[in-house]
Amino acid sequence: MSEATRVLVLNAGSSSVKYQLIDMVDGERLAAGLVERIGESEGRLVHSPHGGARRESAQAFPDHSSGLKAMAEELAADGVGLDSPELAAIGHRVVHGGRRFTAPTVVTDEVLTEIRRLVPVAPLHNPANIIGIEVARALRPDLPQVAVFDTAFHTTVPEFAARYAIDRTVADEHRVRRYGFHGTSHQYVSRATAQLLGKDPAEVNVIVLHLGNGASASAVAGGVCVDTSMGLTPLEGLVMGTRSGDVDPGVIFHLHRVGGLSVDEIDDLLNRRSGLLGLCGDNDMREVLRRAGEGDADAELAFQAYVHRLRKYIGAYYAVLGRVDAIAFTAGVGENAAPVREAATAELESLGIAVDPELNSVRSGEARVISPAYARVTVAVVPTDEELEIAQQAFALVRRS
Ligand code: ADP
Repeated sequence: MSEATRVLVLNAGSSSVKYQLIDMVDGERLAAGLVERIGESEGRLVHSPHGGARRESAQAFPDHSSGLKAMAEELAADGVGLDSPELAAIGHRVVHGGRRFTAPTVVTDEVLTEIRRLVPVAPLHNPANIIGIEVARALRPDLPQVAVFDTAFHTTVPEFAARYAIDRTVADEHRVRRYGFHGTSHQYVSRATAQLLGKDPAEVNVIVLHLGNGASASAVAGGVCVDTSMGLTPLEGLVMGTRSGDVDPGVIFHLHRVGGLSVDEIDDLLNRRSGLLGLCGDNDMREVLRRAGEGDADAELAFQAYVHRLRKYIGAYYAVLGRVDAIAFTAGVGENAAPVREAATAELESLGIAVDPELNSVRSGEARVISPAYARVTVAVVPTDEELEIAQQAFALVRRS
């Protein structure tokens, strides 16, 4: 029997599942795809085999189980089916691991119960992640299913940074504290940044700016996360595509008492109708930049608000870390939007931060330095790879056990 060196990574959302099959010998993607619009009258599956042509099919997926079965058929058609002896594990992205899950964990019934217990603090995410695990387990009951948690990397944040300054009895009863998210990305990028610097992660302090649709910042000291901008939920912190990030909690009372909005309406407002979208009507940074370039005042304001918040977090985490060796930009906006990187780091020479305009304008999928050689702080663009990180963590765990 050949050695099991492959990991299937599943990222199950409420109506979609993203997947990648990765060979851990060389990090090769053997297949990648997406099942979407699960539960709707017409769903879609997009499957890209390694080195082959992308296949797309429209069909109804009444539930996650039918979606994952269709994925399994696509993989089997490529000769890399779920029954393959080379499959070592299935790695699942799980959004909320609470305080208990500080590392990747092989799923048992007890672990599933614990992930279920966290649904009240992650009502939008954990239920879908649980379904993904259950369906994958039914497909391959003999295979280790490994949960990799978005919160795990942040469990090292010290208590004084993780606690909100509210009554501790109430906070404890309802498990209200900073958990942080995007941890897999922050972990991957902080390590990759150290590598780019040619240093051991234990030697470098990095501010990681994960700027995708959701966005978060983290302060990583010697490979250990010491603060992060998302909180109890992924709503706190930076201005995002559709999320407000930080607001005075008093805004919520005001909108309820004076504005007459219900709690659900405010939830919807802050999570889905705010951020760039709320400020200018577009949530995609490409569109915001295009409009701002044409002199659109709303888009310009949205850009400035986005960048201003980012600068505040860079300053805050500079103070948290004391010494900063690198600032790493990642995810859709961070990897592609040179104007955001330029504006976020402008006029910070006194902090040792500078960006070279020429290096900043280079378009590339590789990790790269964009600060001039004289700058004390290395500013870098470091593409994130959450799937590879999940696969590596899952593989390392099943190899050890
Ligand atoms: P997700 O959080 O869904 O994983 P991504 O990390 O893929 O998101 O980021 C998606 C966002 O990246 C888009 O909404 C868009 O705002 C931004 N983006 C992608 N490409 C560019 C680009 N060339 N210039 C500016 N922004 C971009």
